Amino acid sequence: MGLSRRELLVTGAALATAAAAPRGRGPRLAVAMLSHEGNSFAPVTIGLDAFESSVWAKGDAAQRFDGTATELGGVLDFAAANPDWQVDFLRLAQATPSGPVRADVFDAIVAEVVGDLKARGPYDAVLLILHGALLVEGRDLADLAFVQAVRDAVGTGCALGASFDLHANIDPRLVALLDGGSGYKTHPHVDQADAAKRALAMLRGKVRGELRPVGVLVKAGAILPSINMRTAEGPMAELEAVAAAMLGGTLLDAVPFGGFSYGDSVAAGASAMVFTDGDPALARSAATRLAGEIDARADRFFVALPKPAEAIARAVAAPKPAAIVDAGDNPLSGGVADTPGLLRALIDAKVALPTLFAFFWDPGVVARARAAGVGGRVSGTLGGRLTPDFGAPVPFAATVLRLTDGRFTAQPPFIIGTRLDFGPTALLRLDGTMIDVIVTSLCASPHDPGLLALHGLKIGDHALLAIKAKNHFRAAYAAHLKTIVDTDAPGPAALDIASFPFRRAPRRLRPLNGNPS
Ligand SMILES: [Zn+2]
Repeated sequence: MGLSRRELLVTGAALATAAAAPRGRGPRLAVAMLSHEGNSFAPVTIGLDAFESSVWAKGDAAQRFDGTATELGGVLDFAAANPDWQVDFLRLAQATPSGPVRADVFDAIVAEVVGDLKARGPYDAVLLILHGALLVEGRDLADLAFVQAVRDAVGTGCALGASFDLHANIDPRLVALLDGGSGYKTHPHVDQADAAKRALAMLRGKVRGELRPVGVLVKAGAILPSINMRTAEGPMAELEAVAAAMLGGTLLDAVPFGGFSYGDSVAAGASAMVFTDGDPALARSAATRLAGEIDARADRFFVALPKPAEAIARAVAAPKPAAIVDAGDNPLSGGVADTPGLLRALIDAKVALPTLFAFFWDPGVVARARAAGVGGRVSGTLGGRLTPDFGAPVPFAATVLRLTDGRFTAQPPFIIGTRLDFGPTALLRLDGTMIDVIVTSLCASPHDPGLLALHGLKIGDHALLAIKAKNHFRAAYAAHLKTIVDTDAPGPAALDIASFPFRRAPRRLRPLNGNPS
């Protein structure tokens, strides 16, 4: 297909050195990413290393997302389809959901993006890839602060857009700063690239003078748990259908945001965002209607889940292979792969079935397993390492079955092609049980079965899979499992939202308002 995208793109480095651009003299687009889902109740804060082990790139390095199902993959698709546009990748930073970002790291990223926009500009358009539920230590409304800083840097003449996760906690003032925006419409999020492309289409229309996109976001009245927020069925599927039916005419996009339950922020809670072509009144009325549709279904997002002992009993009695999903410690909800409740219950249940536990984050155990070697012995505790708040550590003795470097490339259908890094890992068999446990040196999400393949395993090798996950893992796992049982054990992403010590989120929001979930 002729020139590769690498050759077609004008990169940040090339611009900085004023190299001759192989592309036309069309509009200039800058892209920056600051994507992080912050859990206020996770017992950690994150620094630069959390971004470096996920996405920390600039300029040419963005090319590694070519062909991936990420928003950056969507930007590269846009660049290929619009060869007259010059695309400049500024700082791209993304970390696995976790506790808040350290303030100095946030300030440095904002300063770098603003500095580059001023030094390399002017730009015709800027796309910010946000999650929309960013938390920064000691700050509130960090996404809004970032977008405001960018708007101040580029001025009102530049088309400024953003793309968001379905679990974004967005302040209405942020959307008022934008000339285009969209969000994921699937959960699991298999349409990330499309969200970026929809936002870019609005920016392109604005730059060409063909569109005057205006956006309005209206907050709904609830902080919704995400356990029943999949878009294959249930209330979120209905909301996506309602939003899709709104499209057409001057209504450019309608996005229901489920919000992120564990982000304690002034902007907490579900919301609805609508962009129209030059019709702010329609944007407001449509967003208000969509927010009302969210409220009308709020009841159905609050579901009850079995505690671990009951979930194990259900899984043991059900067709195999069966998964027991430890949603309260899901790393993609800010879980830390450290809560001990489900492992404790599995040991207590004395399950006589081969069981795989994925996973615990404990670099110390991994280091001791590596020192012991495959076939060697290791002992200590699993879980409860970072905090005792979610249960006491579980003592263990085990044989080391396998050691790995913890790195692999994600497979379809979810964030295809991105690299996942768990750091060095160990597969252990716990004495006196049929439980094998994966222990890692970094906390990442086990939603991709590549984590099993890394350890010489595939889905179904063990009759039971205990996994620290929630909805996203279903994208790749569900077709290979006969049974999936969600459980609610204590953890930073436990189901009972009202049990967490919210301080910033508006008290009017259900269930903080006392309206029982
Ligand atoms: Zn999400």
